[in-house]
Amino acid sequence: MRNRLFPAAAAALFLTALAVPAAHAKGGDAPVTEAELAGHIRILASDAFEGRAPGTGGEDRTIAYIVGEWVKAGLEPVPGSATPWLQPVPFVESEPLTSRATFKVRGRDIRLEEDGVIVAGRDPSVSLRDAPAVFVGYGVDGAGHVNTDVRGKLAIMLYGNAPFGAKLPGYRERRRMLANAGAAGVLVIAGDAIPWARLRDAVAGKTVRLADPAEAPPSVSGFLSLEAADALFARAGQDGAAAREAAKAAGYRGAELPVTADIETTARIRPFASNNVIAKLPGARPDGKAVLFLGHWDHLGICGEEGDADRICNGAVDNASGIAVLIEVAKRLASGPRPDRDIYFMATTAEEKGLLGATWFADHPVLPLEDITVALNIDTIAISPRGTPVATIGRGRPAYDAMVRSVAAKLGRKVDADGEADAFAQRQDGWALGAKGVPSLMVGGSFSDMPLLEAFLGSDYHGPADEFSDKVPLGGAAEDADLHVALGRAFADTKRWTGTADQSGVP
Ligand SMILES: [Zn+2]
Repeated sequence: MRNRLFPAAAAALFLTALAVPAAHAKGGDAPVTEAELAGHIRILASDAFEGRAPGTGGEDRTIAYIVGEWVKAGLEPVPGSATPWLQPVPFVESEPLTSRATFKVRGRDIRLEEDGVIVAGRDPSVSLRDAPAVFVGYGVDGAGHVNTDVRGKLAIMLYGNAPFGAKLPGYRERRRMLANAGAAGVLVIAGDAIPWARLRDAVAGKTVRLADPAEAPPSVSGFLSLEAADALFARAGQDGAAAREAAKAAGYRGAELPVTADIETTARIRPFASNNVIAKLPGARPDGKAVLFLGHWDHLGICGEEGDADRICNGAVDNASGIAVLIEVAKRLASGPRPDRDIYFMATTAEEKGLLGATWFADHPVLPLEDITVALNIDTIAISPRGTPVATIGRGRPAYDAMVRSVAAKLGRKVDADGEADAFAQRQDGWALGAKGVPSLMVGGSFSDMPLLEAFLGSDYHGPADEFSDKVPLGGAAEDADLHVALGRAFADTKRWTGTADQSGVP
């Protein structure tokens, strides 16, 4: 799962009980066992896989394992693929070396506190001269469009989510939108949400992005501390707090500042390659619609400091557990009665770098995106015990919600409809597909019991301690695997699910 500060769980939990006794129809799919999942996780999260970082030997071993299991299951490579089983994804790693940013108000140099601004450049060497600054608020209007003319300018943008729309993009995506709109640079005003030291380390450290002009950041990116931003506004004769307040309106159009910036940066740039792994289970009676299962295979790789006893972030829960479920779901669906529709399975790369593999797939799909009747993402699934209710990220299309309720009820699962899971919508691969209009759901127990999830996020998550042991709970993951087998059968059944827009409630 993608890193982000965990928002406090707010709403009280209430459950919609739809419990009926669990029963597997005669001749139905055999339940997925905890032992089967453990077998995969033990291997994928072993030190030999070095934490599964994209572009490493750990990637090679991970791909070989997943493809090997999918071949055993009976899946096929996507027909016509130049690189069977693999979708190559090109990346650029950038390591900042030097940076300098100075500001002028009406042509006169001003000094900001030394540590108040951090910048990094996109290319080996970047030089901005006299770039005019414009405060853009959240950078988008209520409709999600860039809200002002930023061509050739240094845009100064707010960090948090815009208060005037629940589905508006986060700051990374807004920054890219400003770059696409021609901004020379984007400085984000840091709030209290993330400690300044963490932002500074993030900008100063290596970053990875897609080698795709459409996904490129501005030539200069960085952060302004709240204090430095207020000081800059004050030197320009303006009130920073008042500007931030004005920006809370959906129709805010930005404000030019009598400020120009000179910014110089150097960086070491390294291209490298990684891969999404994609397989197909051809349907018995394909109707042009398809079901897509996905989960990210990557994790953080060697993450500890030199000299640490354990330097490998093994990513057992995040997300070897999800890949284990993808493998077993593929085995059940391929070995039982053949579903009507085509079913695709995808293990994505670089989710941890910002949903990058899923974003690449959404920009370069191997089947038309409009043919995907549902995408089901599986991430960080070994959290809860058996009996945990089913939560769904991506609710809101009545026909889909009804299908999930019906499938869960048939398995004797309770449904948790309190909406707490929605806080994770932008932190998982389904978001990248949903942004392109693919109905994307993440369904299961891991995002239903918030105290359990918070306990994981507050301890082993994204550290060397996320490794496999008998203590990793697999009961809920096994139940969620069965749920995904049943969801796959339901959404791939042309009689049960028409797969048309009117059914989804989306024209
Ligand atoms: Zn993660």
